[in-house]
Amino acid sequence: MKLKAGIIGAGIGGLAAAIRLARLGYQVEVFEQSARAGGKLNEFRQDGFRFDTGPSLFTLPHLLDELLDEDLRFRYRKLDVVTQYFFDDGTRLSAFADVEKFATEVEQKTQVPAKRVLRYLKQAAQIYRLTAPIFIFNSIHRFRKLFTWPNLGRALQAFRLKPLSTLHGLNQKTFGDPRIIQLFDRYATYNGSNPYKTPGTLSVISHLEHNLGAYFPAGGMYQIVEALLAQANRLGVRFFYHTPVESVIAGKKSVSGLRVKGENRSYNLVVSDVDIHHFYRTLLPDSRRLKKMERTERSSSALIFYWGMKKRFPELELHNIFFSQDYRHEFSCLFEQKTITNDPTVYVFISSKENLADAPADMGNWFVMVNAPEAAGQNWEKLRQRTRQNILKKLQRILNQEIENQILFERILDPVTIEELTGSFQGAMYGPSSNSPFSAFNRHPNFRSDIAGLYFVGGTVHPGGGIPLCLSSANIVAEIVEEQLTEKK
Ligand SMILES: Cc1cc2nc3c(=O)[nH]c(=O)nc-3n(C[C@H](O)[C@H](O)[C@H](O)COP(=O)(O)OP(=O)(O)OC[C@H]3O[C@@H](n4cnc5c(N)ncnc54)[C@H](O)[C@@H]3O)c2cc1C
Repeated sequence: MKLKAGIIGAGIGGLAAAIRLARLGYQVEVFEQSARAGGKLNEFRQDGFRFDTGPSLFTLPHLLDELLDEDLRFRYRKLDVVTQYFFDDGTRLSAFADVEKFATEVEQKTQVPAKRVLRYLKQAAQIYRLTAPIFIFNSIHRFRKLFTWPNLGRALQAFRLKPLSTLHGLNQKTFGDPRIIQLFDRYATYNGSNPYKTPGTLSVISHLEHNLGAYFPAGGMYQIVEALLAQANRLGVRFFYHTPVESVIAGKKSVSGLRVKGENRSYNLVVSDVDIHHFYRTLLPDSRRLKKMERTERSSSALIFYWGMKKRFPELELHNIFFSQDYRHEFSCLFEQKTITNDPTVYVFISSKENLADAPADMGNWFVMVNAPEAAGQNWEKLRQRTRQNILKKLQRILNQEIENQILFERILDPVTIEELTGSFQGAMYGPSSNSPFSAFNRHPNFRSDIAGLYFVGGTVHPGGGIPLCLSSANIVAEIVEEQLTEKK
């Protein structure tokens, strides 16, 4: 008889785990509370426009390709300009994918020597080579996988990782120019952290974007989910939508199934892709673990306006950043005052720049996002209105044209709705923040050593948030399961 696996949640981690377990011979069933797969990676369509609602930046695409049969792989394009930056003092800077060209652009626009940018990105590449095999593609919670000779060699070079300076401290020391410091500080937000607290090690994120490249899928970000779904269906995975799991059935030593729609279903193995906080609050209540998690600072959330725009803006690229004047204040508002500054950094993502079909001719689909604090009882109605006005004021000033009258329709996503739609605790986008050098060690492991058969994937557990890391979490789980299957033979 085939072994059975039950998966809770059809986010990126859940879909990837379903594919990997089906390939190991499991009969896999995936339960998703909402009407469709994707979780935070989702889309909606309205009046001839299509919007990706969550992730917009696609890096390390080979992690997706390796999951898919060749005929199911979709096309993605490496971007020539990764991001178009607009600074408050009027400086405009294109982050070209070609690092030499990018470094020259930095030198021409800010006088920061090109070689300093190149040296920084080389160092980021070195940090990636040292950390990725330990912290991204490996479980740091299994001693025999952690304490290996190659890892010991990497550990001896730990001084290169900059764990003791903050990302901002490192950038300040390297660049001197406030604009370039801010540009490289921004990478802390890629996992919902604070550049004034997160360790310099996180400069590794700039390596992914600048050295390895940023990509965009033909057809938009939701193609990632469509491809994973097609692969899972081909492997015989069964999906149950509108079907929230009520609880996990586990004894003291092992898991035996899931409770769904009032019925117990038996599984040899259970994988949770839901927010880890939500898991211990509702699916396998554990007040001791919850208390510990509550002591950990959570990552930031987002406030997003989806605007159908009446016209195209040739001065904008696929990814655009309009920086705030006072970045330190912006993060103090987010993490200490739990509010949004009146001058937030604004991210505008326009997928119709790459994927013409995403908007009617001569129009544009704007995804306008600012970082927001986790939902903690704020008056979101007021915060939404105030921030909308601040965003419009800023965009109108910098682009020197009327923006509001170009908006055909609007939809909004805030931390409260992110929590409602995806089960993310308080709308935090990546679970716990990485605001401490020990954050990686504090993330929940991908397994429970005391409960056999219970596994965890997704952005709130090891190795962390973002599409590549969620894919990696599923790979780590599949490796452990495969090892155990081999040991039993
Ligand atoms: C606005 C935004 C922008 C982002 N931008 C980027 C980006 O540019 N690049 C990038 O790489 N990453 C980005 N991310 C992060 C990325 O989206 C996430 O890390 C990743 O999609 C999380 O996947 P996951 O596997 O954790 O599952 P989730 O997406 O969290 O999905 C979990 C699923 O579980 C379901 N669920 C919850 N409870 C239950 C239950 N009891 N029973 C059944 N189902 C349940 C939910 O409905 C949901 O579908 C962004 C995230 C957000 C919100």
